[in-house]
Amino acid sequence: MQNGLCPKCSSSEVYYSAAKAAQHGLTEASYVRIYKENKWVPDITLLELAYYICRGCGYFEMYAQDLEKLAALDDCSNWRKVGS
Ligand SMILES: [Zn+2]
Repeated sequence: MQNGLCPKCSSSEVYYSAAKAAQHGLTEASYVRIYKENKWVPDITLLELAYYICRGCGYFEMYAQDLEKLAALDDCSNWRKVGS
């Protein structure tokens, strides 16, 4: 999808949008959250998203934009590695 080709229908009519909360007034639902256990202060990593949609078939994907923030997945409380 990120290469401009739809993995479902092979169309090259793929469109991209990078969500920037401050620019578009997006709600909290526009973020992916990573939570850590913390007794007193919420420790939440917010990930801004990039969206891809295929004009041909409507297939839709989204990606976290800042991959360095995914380090917070290591000891978070709301995500588990698939297969573990
Ligand atoms: Zn498609």
